Amino acid sequence: MTFKKTPFEYEEIQPMWGPFPERLMPVWNIYTRNFYISSYVCPECGRLMAKTVFPSDYSFQTTDGVKKVPRIFVCGNCQTFHIPSPGYKLSSNNGYYYKAKDYDEFEKLVKELDNVGSTTGRRNTLYNEG
Ligand SMILES: [Zn+2]
Repeated sequence: MTFKKTPFEYEEIQPMWGPFPERLMPVWNIYTRNFYISSYVCPECGRLMAKTVFPSDYSFQTTDGVKKVPRIFVCGNCQTFHIPSPGYKLSSNNGYYYKAKDYDEFEKLVKELDNVGSTTGRRNTLYNEG
């Protein structure tokens, strides 16, 4: 799995009270313990992405070499993975993404990430984004 430079512009939405509008509802069919709803909408389908936070930076192979990042955003609808560039927010639009080849690969990767991720926000990163 090699992440590519993102061609996307990411949109962060403000936290809202009450139920999310239907059009934003995340698609998430895999049982996970450490993913939760992020404040970013998927640049492809417009639904909220799920995220997990790594207790220590996790390494991903990208077209620019290995990048160690504190968090990852995942769209269960498009089966895509999105990481910020180290030291940047996802909305800096200079991160990387990877699209799973099929559902089996998507599920396998999500479970791997769920095992190393957490729902605890980190305070020691430059941006503690949602
Ligand atoms: Zn999507």
